[in-house]
Amino acid sequence: MNKINIKDLGPEELEDFVINLGEKSYRATQLGKWIYKRGVSSFDKMTDLSKDFRASLSQAATISSLKMIEERISFDGTKKYIFGLFDGNRIESVLIPENGRNTLCISAQVGCALGCTFCLTGRVGRIRNLKTSEILDQFLEVNNRNNGSVTNIVFMGMGEPLDNLENTVKALKTFTHPDFIGFSPKRITVSTSGIVPKIRELGKQISVNLSVSLNAPTDELRNEIMPINKKYPIRELIEESARFPVPRRKTLTFEYVLINGVNDSDEDARKLGDLLMGVRCKVNLIPFNEAYPLPYKSPPDERVFGFQKVLLSYGLHVRIRKNRGRDILGACGQLAADYPLNNKRAYKFSNQVKED
Ligand code: SAH
Ligand code: SF4
Repeated sequence: MNKINIKDLGPEELEDFVINLGEKSYRATQLGKWIYKRGVSSFDKMTDLSKDFRASLSQAATISSLKMIEERISFDGTKKYIFGLFDGNRIESVLIPENGRNTLCISAQVGCALGCTFCLTGRVGRIRNLKTSEILDQFLEVNNRNNGSVTNIVFMGMGEPLDNLENTVKALKTFTHPDFIGFSPKRITVSTSGIVPKIRELGKQISVNLSVSLNAPTDELRNEIMPINKKYPIRELIEESARFPVPRRKTLTFEYVLINGVNDSDEDARKLGDLLMGVRCKVNLIPFNEAYPLPYKSPPDERVFGFQKVLLSYGLHVRIRKNRGRDILGACGQLAADYPLNNKRAYKFSNQVKED
């Protein structure tokens, strides 16, 4: 019999699981505390559970963890972690210290199916969804290695979290459940390229921060650099995002990657300003991070400031996101965990691997 990894169960499923083993539902809370609060990975050590229950747990389940295979440290203090998965795949997480915060950027998938032209993960193509445990373990392992210092979690690593909605939601529920990891939903951000119905679905299940990667002010340009836009055009995306239930005193964010000569003119900024006027939101400008073999360039600093200036004149809150960890390929859009990017056969192969 294949054993279940307890961390693949969301809080509700864990209750069903213990009930199926003949126990009361509150045992799920005890289990969650042992695993997530105390970091215990053996049922034997859970001394407030009966011997019989511990034996049946050992028969039916395991508590296994991801293997961290490498830590790379940037000159700016950013750290990139590479994890080896059970099937030989690899994923990356990035820890970014800034202004007293320690933000962990985690992955939701191996590769990504959505093929944005400016993103290295998009080049890898779809390989598979991460399991709930694989999402959680990125946090648990990095937080542990850094003495519990992670203050914020952002789903901005490899993959599209809303293309792996079920496991993302289960992970979010475990992150935020007070008896499990107990992380404040105000300190968690899900970033999406804009799968509109999934944004609605996520909002029905949980309230966390939402960041939408807009990256172009018109459908014409967005269709070109983010193919998902052909299915869910900009206006629909903005309307749905504006309805998303972010936590109290928090605001919806739009991300805009500035690519030299592609989407960074004053004209583009004005179109973006018109589009976002009246929407309660913040805008984060991200200068494009170059990485071979992506065909684009970063804009000069003056262009980034010029673009920001136009948006500010619309009364928008606009920040420029610093590029961190570029030297270790740890910045936005640079995560590919050594997957082949140019080899057509490897690319095709990676698209054919079945989801588990
Ligand atoms: N799939 C999700 C989350 C992962 S991408 C999404 O698209 O939102 C996280 C962020 O990195 C997105 O805002 C994306 O637009 C940005 N990004 C992708 N490639 C980039 C690059 N080469 N330089 C700068 N930002 C990039
Ligand atoms: Fe996927 Fe996001 Fe990269 Fe687009 S930007 S390819 S959605 S990871």
